[in-house]
Amino acid sequence: MARRIPEPFRIKMVEPIKQTTPEYRRQALAAAGWNPFLLRGEDVYIDLLTDSGTGAMSDRQWAGVMMGDEAYAGSRNFYELEATVKEVFGYAHTLPTHQGRGAEQILFPELVKRCGSQQPVFLSNYHFDTTKAHVEIAGARAINVLTPQALDTTTAYDWKGDFDLPRLAALIEEHGAANVAGLIITVTCNSAGGQPVSMTSIRESAALARRHGIPVIIDAARFAENAWFIQQRDPDYASKSVPAIVYEMFSHGDMFTMSAKKDALVNIGGLCCFKHDENLFRSVQVRCVAMEGFVTYGGLAGRDMAALAVGLKEGMDEGYLAYRIGQVAYLGDRLAAGGIPIQTPTGGHAVFVDAKKLLPHIPAGQFPAHALACELYLEGGIRGVEIGSLLLGRNPATGEQEPSPFELLRLTIPRRVYTNDHMDYIADCLIDIQQRASSIRGLGFDYEPPILRHFTARLHPL
Ligand SMILES: *Cc1c(COP(=O)(O)O)cnc(C)c1O
Repeated sequence: MARRIPEPFRIKMVEPIKQTTPEYRRQALAAAGWNPFLLRGEDVYIDLLTDSGTGAMSDRQWAGVMMGDEAYAGSRNFYELEATVKEVFGYAHTLPTHQGRGAEQILFPELVKRCGSQQPVFLSNYHFDTTKAHVEIAGARAINVLTPQALDTTTAYDWKGDFDLPRLAALIEEHGAANVAGLIITVTCNSAGGQPVSMTSIRESAALARRHGIPVIIDAARFAENAWFIQQRDPDYASKSVPAIVYEMFSHGDMFTMSAKKDALVNIGGLCCFKHDENLFRSVQVRCVAMEGFVTYGGLAGRDMAALAVGLKEGMDEGYLAYRIGQVAYLGDRLAAGGIPIQTPTGGHAVFVDAKKLLPHIPAGQFPAHALACELYLEGGIRGVEIGSLLLGRNPATGEQEPSPFELLRLTIPRRVYTNDHMDYIADCLIDIQQRASSIRGLGFDYEPPILRHFTARLHPL
């Protein structure tokens, strides 16, 4: 097991978290209908629901907050943010947005309009949920073109976020380049478990799009984690700095949307930026004013933009990234050493536990990964999230619950929030659960919502 990398920060302010008894947790979970989503946050000891907006800001970011210029138009913090975007990514035009989906909702309709097709499609290594939703709201279809290597969770492969390039070329032929409204490169590939996209895949997919006149959009939530993986895993980039790699990655795009709640280390914020295209920028600005806010704030306070400008750079600090991705890998290593089946290799922001292997006696229709999520809360006050049959839902045509190809428990690690001791505690709890795995029961519905049921379903142990 690799030596664990200690935290590259010291703690200046602490937030107490509630430690509860097993009886307290059993009551809280029963009151929440055996659905950790419905727990009160304060009843959770270690919250691994998401890495989105859950990171800790630095002293420098908080200092930025105090320097907020709350001018409605032309805030100083906007110009600082715009200058930072130019420096970090080389993009001329910046629009702040309230979060990533804010950028998606103002950009995609313009791309569809510009494409002018009656059957527009977007092609991506993998559309994130809200990205797919906004593609569809804009009247287009979202098609994923992920490398087949990503589907094999037990075999290590360095670039499980890559495009399937031959298939991408075939899809462009099949649909006709004139019907492809954009190529979306998602770095890292969130839906495949935070797996990185290689520079080769970024370069070649973008070159293919460019040859066909298709605009290239980078979905940039985890831009820095992706660059760090490139530095670590591609010998051609071993001696390049993370900022240099980021700059090169973005040189292959025409525009990017970003949820700044991930690598940019803020609790709220997003970006929609354009390398050159001033015309497109102008038309997206119009939508921004109507939907997000005036073009120099886009739904953010001046102080939010100040923290974001600092966070964009802190997120690329190599000491921080080594610790950050090392912490996720460390939790994965501890679990694997304890005999817990996980997806390998671990990605940038989460560890996925394979509940189908850990709880083979629970059928898909009784939600093994959700049962494991409940058990982990009961055991240690830890909240993870099911990625499996409960999330998948019923087949809309037949109303049947079909088994999901995966039954995973996602443990998503917030940035700079929990220590490596917390990781040990999480691993110890899961290893203890494994001892009694055969006695864990599946769950049935008390209330099953018709759509997006994992958020609000109420269940009971069988
Ligand atoms: C989080 C995320 C989004 C959406 O951003 P929000 O800030 O949650 O609106 C889009 N794409 C990817 C890859 C993401 O991880």
